[in-house]
Amino acid sequence: MIQPASREVFPGIIHISLPVPFKVEPVNVYFLAGEIPTIIDTGVGTERTFEWLDKELRTFGFAAKEIRQVILTHGHIDHSGLSGKIHRLTGSPVLLHASEWKEMKQVQYPTAENLKDQFRAFRSWGLAADQVKQFDSMRQALNKLGTLPLEGIRLLNEGDVIQAGDHLLKPIFCPGHSAGSLCYYLTAGKVLFCGDHILARISPNPCVVLDKKGMAQSGLPMYIDSLDRLANYDVRMCLTGHGNSLSDLPGRIAAIKREHAERQQRFLAYLGEAGPCDLLQLTRVFLADLGKDRVEDLFLGMREAVGQVSLLEQKNLIQSEDVAGVRQYSLQ
Ligand SMILES: [Zn+2]
Repeated sequence: MIQPASREVFPGIIHISLPVPFKVEPVNVYFLAGEIPTIIDTGVGTERTFEWLDKELRTFGFAAKEIRQVILTHGHIDHSGLSGKIHRLTGSPVLLHASEWKEMKQVQYPTAENLKDQFRAFRSWGLAADQVKQFDSMRQALNKLGTLPLEGIRLLNEGDVIQAGDHLLKPIFCPGHSAGSLCYYLTAGKVLFCGDHILARISPNPCVVLDKKGMAQSGLPMYIDSLDRLANYDVRMCLTGHGNSLSDLPGRIAAIKREHAERQQRFLAYLGEAGPCDLLQLTRVFLADLGKDRVEDLFLGMREAVGQVSLLEQKNLIQSEDVAGVRQYSLQ
């Protein structure tokens, strides 16, 4: 894929596209120049990414060491990986939502209890012991691409107003793709930094988070609610976390919702044909579009499947029961 050139997308806002070492489009980060030099999202935490970012900033007369604030749309490693290094280098605070911080601590600094809950959830999806191990190895490998710093974190809430560069941003709480995803609205320009909440070409993968009882819950129902909430904002330009920016926010929201409705129909049809089955079997409905062999694809497919069954259970269209630690789903 050709890396798009960095450019000023709005006065004082520079879009920089950074390479990502996995199968997604390069990640988009945004530098806001001015009184408080700020970066929204950072790219992965590798030396190569840092040098790339610094080189791009220098073409505009800035440098990475001048950053004074890091704002995160969410904590996924392609968006937050460099935040630790930038914090250590510049003393910049790292701003993110409280729910995101909680989720990222479970992923990056898990307790033994967190891991036990996670493994139990994976097994309940129908995964074999070696697949559960593969999922955990993947988590550990991702953490090598950068972790959030344990110091310098500033927690945000909807209702806060943040100065970034010379602009004022309002965080909008949009959980679903991750537990504490935030979009940032620049009222003056009707510009929305939407991270991975809205993407131009793909529908974002929903998170799975452990609730207070240690049970795995899908973020997809919250995600659909977050889409509806965003529909109330007057937005001229959505600056996305990957791929192209977009201007027709209501149109894109409607298309994503349509895609989910179609997937639910496919699930219902499959359950009608196959009879009771577990999530691993159900994920096969998706693996057709995802590719079959990579553990990353299986993980993303399973998170999508957990999301769809959560929505269908909410609508009372399907039911589930625990059979020896594995959840079995069937039509209602
Ligand atoms: Zn993400």
